[in-house]
Amino acid sequence: MSHEPWAAVDDYVAPRLAGHDNALSSALASSVAAGLPEIAVSPLQGQMLHVLAKSVGALKVLEVGTLGGYSTIWLARALPDGGRVVTLEADPHHATVAQSNLQNAGVIDSVDLRVGMAIDTLPQLEAEGAGPFDLVFIDADKPSIPEYFQWALKLTRPGSLIVVDNVVRRGKLADSESRDEDVLGCRRLIEMLEHEPRVTSTVVQTVGAKGHDGFALAVVL
Ligand code: SAM
Repeated sequence: MSHEPWAAVDDYVAPRLAGHDNALSSALASSVAAGLPEIAVSPLQGQMLHVLAKSVGALKVLEVGTLGGYSTIWLARALPDGGRVVTLEADPHHATVAQSNLQNAGVIDSVDLRVGMAIDTLPQLEAEGAGPFDLVFIDADKPSIPEYFQWALKLTRPGSLIVVDNVVRRGKLADSESRDEDVLGCRRLIEMLEHEPRVTSTVVQTVGAKGHDGFALAVVL
């Protein structure tokens, strides 16, 4: 057991509330085996996304940043029949691993995996009339978070929920001296949210298996 109390709490709660079946465990294992970075959401965070998708009655979900499809599986499993997750991934190798994991999890028919830079695939979704999405999960490159958030606003409707991962960055979000591009991207998001009348938003700090971080949550008005 970890010495950190929050990691110990994750160890206690996750097997009980976010228990893994083979598909989720092997999605993580095959991602590691394929050399993907170990930066997927934690099991309890995956379960949180699942709970949020269910609580907004999501039928259409947009995810920016697929990696090996771990969070995609949690989201896809929250959808009713006919529901769909569109997930955007820049790295073709990550996408290939994700495709296999989604197939193995039995959710491939409800997932539309698009390979390319999100800043290119997001306008394509708008042009296709793919929205409005009921939930958007932004979890890709951090400097582009403000642009992805603007796209999320275009692709949602009143009542939709926008979730942005990794915005607290071990507290560096509060460092006004930081020149780290990831921190700057997150600070720009907070400033955008402060002046954005189309959403009501908050930041939830988290501790757990992944240390100190947090999510921005915004409901579209
Ligand atoms: N959501 C995944 C999960 O929890 O299982 C983790 C996603 S990981 C933190 C971020 C992913 O975003 C990586 O696979 C990376 O290749 C992808 N990415 C980075 N920049 C991107 C971009 N400009 N457009 C689309 N995807 C990008």
